[in-house]
Amino acid sequence: MNPQDGLETRWERDTGGHLTDAAIEALADAQPVSASSAAHVETCETCSARLADAALRTTTLHREIHALAASPQAQAALARPHARRSPLPYIAAALIVGLLASAPSAASLPRQLSTLRAAIKLQAAGFKQVGLAVFDEVSGPVSSLLFAAVLVAAGVAVAVWGSKDKERRSNHGFA
Ligand SMILES: [Zn+2]
Repeated sequence: MNPQDGLETRWERDTGGHLTDAAIEALADAQPVSASSAAHVETCETCSARLADAALRTTTLHREIHALAASPQAQAALARPHARRSPLPYIAAALIVGLLASAPSAASLPRQLSTLRAAIKLQAAGFKQVGLAVFDEVSGPVSSLLFAAVLVAAGVAVAVWGSKDKERRSNHGFA
């Protein structure tokens, strides 16, 4: 015996043996129903048609909810209590840009490995700083962007410093 059939399932069936509207809605909403009710829908033309209608309604409803959520009014309402957005995308972008900026040094590995390592270390420090700032509740979307900008600037600065350093060192080598 299916353990689910031991549960209260009378609400799922009407007097004619078909599924109740509640059971149809539950199925359409991917809620669990008893195995026998699920099996009935598969074999009963009437109930499977009702389920198809209900599923379509659910899909339409979801689409309407999404459209509503995307409306400018809803966005404005959502933005207020959630003013503090996650800075992670900015941090990720900063890390990528910072490391890309260090790429010329990476190309001349292993000599420039120390520069690259310094760049990564700096990026990691910035990451930590942003993380701390988030927990300090200082980080709003604007400050996240500022942190990201600082990180990008730091990454580029290290890369530039790295290539200058390399230049200086190689000049020294030739001298
Ligand atoms: Zn039926």
